[in-house]
Amino acid sequence: MIYVVANWKCNPTNTKEAKKITAGILAAVKSARGTETVICPPFCYLDEVLEAAKKTVKLGAQDCFWEESGAYTGELSAWQLKDVKCQYVIIGHSERRKYFGETNEQTNKKIKAAVSAGLTPILCVGETREERVGGSITQPIEAQIKEGLAGIDVFQTAVIVAYEPVWAIGTGQACSVEEANYVRQFVNNILGDKVAVLYGGSVNADNAVSYLKDAKFNGLLVGGVSLKPDEFSKLLTNVSEKPKNKV
Ligand code: PEP
Repeated sequence: MIYVVANWKCNPTNTKEAKKITAGILAAVKSARGTETVICPPFCYLDEVLEAAKKTVKLGAQDCFWEESGAYTGELSAWQLKDVKCQYVIIGHSERRKYFGETNEQTNKKIKAAVSAGLTPILCVGETREERVGGSITQPIEAQIKEGLAGIDVFQTAVIVAYEPVWAIGTGQACSVEEANYVRQFVNNILGDKVAVLYGGSVNADNAVSYLKDAKFNGLLVGGVSLKPDEFSKLLTNVSEKPKNKV
C-alpha cells in the first residue's frame, strides 16, 4: 500500500472551494487501488472534509501543539485533532521551520504528543538550497531525524518520514529520482525499513510513479497538485495498482 498525502497548506479561502476540491479528490479515490489517501486541509475545513469523505480518505492535520490543553492561545493540540477524527499529522514542514522558526526540539515535542494522542506523525525532513550548495544534503537530514525522533522507538511506533528537499517545494523543480533514492536509502539506513518514507516536492501526475517504482518511496506528499482535482486524479490513477488481467 502506498500513501498519497494531500497538503493543502493555507488553501483555499472558502468552504465552497474546499468542498469542491474534496469532491474532486473523492471521485478519484474511489477507483484508486492500493493507496491510502490522506487529506490535510486547514483546521477550519477538517469537518467539511470528514463529512464528505465518509471513510474514503483519511484525515490529517498540518501541525499540532505539544501540550494537551491549557492557556496556549491559537494552538490546537494533538488530542483535539484526534477528537475530530484526524489520524495523521504533518510535523516539521519546512514552511513551519522557515516562517515560524520551528526547531528540531519543538518538532520532537510535537511528534511525542502526536504519538501519545494516537495520531501517526509525518515528520518532514529535507535540505535547503544553501545547505545543498554548501556541500551537505544528508547532515541536516540526519539531525532532523535524530533530534526530531529522539526518544521514539520507531520499531514499536507508527511514524512516517517525508523527504522534502526544501528547494523543490512549490518550485516546479522536483528532485531527480536518483538523488531522492539516495536520500531514501539514507533515511532507511538510520531508521530501518519499517518506517515508511514519502517523497514530496513538486510531485505531479507525470513524475509521481518514478518516485515509487524507481526510488522505492512508500508514498508521496503532494502540495500544489492536491488543490487541482483533475491533476490529482490523474496522479492517483497513475500510482494506483492496475487491475490484474483475467485469463
Ligand atoms: C509540500 O508542501 O509539502 C509540497 C510538497 O508542496 P508542492 O507539492 O507544491 O511542492
